[in-house]
Amino acid sequence: MAITKIHARSIYDSRGNPTVEVDVVTETGLHRAIVPSGASTGQHEAVELRDGDKSKWAGKGVLKAVENVNSVIAPAVIKKNLDVKDQAAVDAFLNSLDGTANKGKLGANAILGVSLAIAKAAAAEKGIPLYAHVADLAGTKKPYVLPVPFMNVLNGGSHAGGRLAFQEFMIVPSAAPTFTEAMRQGAEVYQILKSLAKKRYGQSAGNVGDEGGVAPDIQTAEEALDLITDAIEQAGYTGTIKIAMDVASSEFYREGKYDLDFKNPDSDRSKWLTYQELAALYKSLAEKYPIVSIEDPFAEDDWEAWSYFFKTSDFQIVGDDLTVTNPERIKTAIEKKACNSLLLKVNQIGTLTESIQAAKDSYAAGWGVMVSHRSGETEDVTIADIVVGLRAGQIKTGAPARSERLAKLNQILRIEEELGANAVYAGEHFRTAVNI
Ligand code: PEP
Ligand code: MG
Repeated sequence: MAITKIHARSIYDSRGNPTVEVDVVTETGLHRAIVPSGASTGQHEAVELRDGDKSKWAGKGVLKAVENVNSVIAPAVIKKNLDVKDQAAVDAFLNSLDGTANKGKLGANAILGVSLAIAKAAAAEKGIPLYAHVADLAGTKKPYVLPVPFMNVLNGGSHAGGRLAFQEFMIVPSAAPTFTEAMRQGAEVYQILKSLAKKRYGQSAGNVGDEGGVAPDIQTAEEALDLITDAIEQAGYTGTIKIAMDVASSEFYREGKYDLDFKNPDSDRSKWLTYQELAALYKSLAEKYPIVSIEDPFAEDDWEAWSYFFKTSDFQIVGDDLTVTNPERIKTAIEKKACNSLLLKVNQIGTLTESIQAAKDSYAAGWGVMVSHRSGETEDVTIADIVVGLRAGQIKTGAPARSERLAKLNQILRIEEELGANAVYAGEHFRTAVNI
């Protein structure tokens, strides 16, 4: 079925910044994708093309990326008359139009919007849900696996005001019997956490950060973890709901050390930590709190620290800025034994095909895969279908608050209802869900 029209426009993400939306029209109708955007972006991510014209949106406009879709990609793709169901051919063609290794010419934001919208057109042509089309493309087995929602209920780092260095504190309802129950448990803990935060730190502590988690102005990870474990206890889930963190430590890596006071311009250098000291802090936190997963414990190029930590850890260690959903970086991380899970962000690499390849490479190395939103999000729910289609078993898409976060979680609720007995909840097997 031919594509009759591809059209991009500039709309706004959850932080009020411009982002790219792409419409692809075929005989089955209009298929749309919207591109997300990170704040704590990895240096090795594919290029997100921004206009840089400071007189408009402080340089954050995406009019060039939009123009690249409308004037370069659209006419070429329509002329080429590719089969939309052949995503690998579509994405290879998009990459050839760009011609660079990091999508720096047309922009990963331009390319991804087209790639995802075409995948939706293909699912419609096949008359199946998007998650089923992704499962076909990835060759995953059945039954479908519904992911454990890693809910980011307390925001720090570059996603919130306040002094807290670590970026994300997530609750992990992996002992729940279903995704629906996991959502109930998480939502209950979240409401209690909000009132506890206000009680302990004042009314403003209930204000939320970029991903919907509360953002009290606290300094240490211990304070955050105490608050969360107290909320879990009050909700009656001690022992069943676990905790995960995304430290996003590249954000506070300074001159070979880790500055836990990085938001303070007068930060005391003598207190900056070596990677061994930071590793010791993680170990002591993991002894005291039910931590099952740590993402980006060290900076994106501090390979020695990653390998050192991995050797002596028995929980999930997730690469995000380290691996940037890039098959080359993933290969290096496997060789260096740096981590045992991939954070999969479609806009870090810029096409669906390469995202699927990143997941497959990770599975082949015995790694887990956690599909992820960005801190700048939209109403687009594609990653909900991707996580189910890939059998990844884990998703992080913020707190159970703010609709750009809940849009994805709500989509998984719908998928669980639709699949019924044809799906299982990943539960405690979240890291090895692909093998269930
Ligand atoms: C993350 O670091 O995992 C994240 C979602 O944040 P951002 O989108 O800002 O990179
Ligand atoms: Mg991260």
